[in-house]
Amino acid sequence: MSTVETVGGPIDAGQLGTTLVHEHLQARDEAVYSQWPHARTIAEEEPLHEVDPDGAYEIAARLAARLVELGVNTICDPSAMFLGRDVEFMRRVSDDTGLQVVACTGIYTYDHLPQFFLTRDPDQIADLFVHDIERGIQGTEVKAAFIKCAADEPGVTENVEKVHRAAARASNRTGAPIMAHSRPASETGPRQIEIFVEEGVDPARVQIAHTGDTDDLDYIERVLEAGVFIGMDRYGLELYLPFEQRQKTVVALLERGYADRMLLSADHCATLDWFPLGVAEQMLAAGLAKDWSMTLVPERVLPELREAGMTADQERTMMVENPKRWLAG
Ligand SMILES: [Zn+2]
Repeated sequence: MSTVETVGGPIDAGQLGTTLVHEHLQARDEAVYSQWPHARTIAEEEPLHEVDPDGAYEIAARLAARLVELGVNTICDPSAMFLGRDVEFMRRVSDDTGLQVVACTGIYTYDHLPQFFLTRDPDQIADLFVHDIERGIQGTEVKAAFIKCAADEPGVTENVEKVHRAAARASNRTGAPIMAHSRPASETGPRQIEIFVEEGVDPARVQIAHTGDTDDLDYIERVLEAGVFIGMDRYGLELYLPFEQRQKTVVALLERGYADRMLLSADHCATLDWFPLGVAEQMLAAGLAKDWSMTLVPERVLPELREAGMTADQERTMMVENPKRWLAG
C-alpha cells in the first residue's frame, strides 16, 4: 500500500480524498522576512488588508477550516524556496483544522539563483531536495512529497534548466513526483518536459502547472501528448485567463477524454507579499483577479462544471484519483 507524506506524517494514499493540488497557505519571500521581520504582507481576501506575519496564520487557518467544511480533505502547498516555505506554519494549520497538507521541496525561481547554487551542479542541488524527501524539512520530521520547479517569462534559462535537472534527479532517486510551474504564453511546457524525459523521469509523475492559463487546445494537447498531468489551477486569476475561458477549456478537454490528466485548483495564496496594498487594490479594481480564493474550486468551479455536463466519475477522477496517482504513482 503506498503512502504519501503530509505535514502530519505519512498517510495511506487512499486517505488523500478530495485534493486541491495547488494552494499556498502563505507566499512570501523568506529573505525579506528574515531581514525585516516587521514587514507586512497582504491578506488575499476582500477587503484586501495588510497583516503582520503573526496575522498570516489566522487567515490561513480560517481558509483551511472553510475548505474542510466544503469537503476538501487535502491541499498540496507548493511553497518552495523563495516562497517562504515554513513547514511548522503548515503543520500548525493542519493540526488546528484537520486539513491534510502536503509539503514540497524545490526552488521557485524564474532565473535568479543565489551564489550558493551557481557554484553547485544539479546533483549537489538534488542532494538538498533528497534530504527534504527522505529525512525531513527545516530540521523537522515533516517530509516533502513532491518537488517544485518553475519556468516563466524568461523561458528555460541556464539556471532554470539546472533546477529542472536537479528536480529530475531527486525524483529519480526518491520516486517523488514533480510539479513544474509553466507559462503557456511563452510555451515553456514542452521544453520543461523534454528536460525531464532526457533525465529519465516518468512523465506520469510530472505535473505541468498553470497549463490552464491558455485556452489554446493545440498547445495543451502538445503538452498532454507527453503523458503528463496538467494543472488547470489558477481559477480567479483573470490576468492570465478569465474564469469562463478556463471553464470552457476544461469542458472541451473533458469532451476529448482528458479527465484523467487534469488537476483543478486556484493557486490561491492566503497571504501574499508581492504587491503593496495600494497596488494590490488597483489590480483588483482593474479586474486582474476576481473571486480568487482557495474555496473557489469547491464553491463555484465544480458546481458549474456539473451543470456543464461533468459526470460524477470525471469529477472523482480529477479531484481524488489524479492527485493520488500523481503523488503516489
Ligand atoms: Zn503557486
